[in-house]
Amino acid sequence: MLTHLISAAQCASCRLCCNFRRTSAWETPALTPELAERLRARGIPLRTREDGSTTFALHFPDDAPENFCANCPALDPTTGCTLPRSARPIECRLWPLRLMRAPSGGLALGLYDACPAVSPVVREQIIREATGALLPELRRIANEQPRTIRPIHPAYSIIWEEVPQQTH
Ligand code: SF4
Ligand code: SF4
Repeated sequence: MLTHLISAAQCASCRLCCNFRRTSAWETPALTPELAERLRARGIPLRTREDGSTTFALHFPDDAPENFCANCPALDPTTGCTLPRSARPIECRLWPLRLMRAPSGGLALGLYDACPAVSPVVREQIIREATGALLPELRRIANEQPRTIRPIHPAYSIIWEEVPQQTH
């Protein structure tokens, strides 16, 4: 969805969002049951999170240092993601945008500040699209796939937040 705004060349030399430290293993994307089934059939290792969602399993060798980064098992370190773009988890297709749960309980949109492809100009474009034409689609995804909604985290700037409805 955001690929027209993110430089493929920059991603090729980065891969930051496709590998994970132990402390960031919570960020591996939630998979729909259909996608999990297809990935299982391809032999891609998966795991179940505490919230019941299925995600990629990461391999951390026992003697790995604290800052060791494990690749997503769908990543080929040379050529990139091995899944066709249309078959990637929705969180990957939205990245560096993220559905988040605001402290108010409403939906929020976070933008990952450390993505090197997000220049000031790209940031403005992402904000314009995410809070404009793309917003209904983002709300639909949040409704249909609530496990893709992540808690607020300091690595993400909140670029939009749902206004809580007034109760009387
Ligand atoms: S962090 Fe940004 S630049 Fe790096 S691979 Fe992900 S989308 Fe591409
Ligand atoms: S599914 Fe593809 S895009 Fe998503 S984290 Fe894994 S390698 Fe990266």
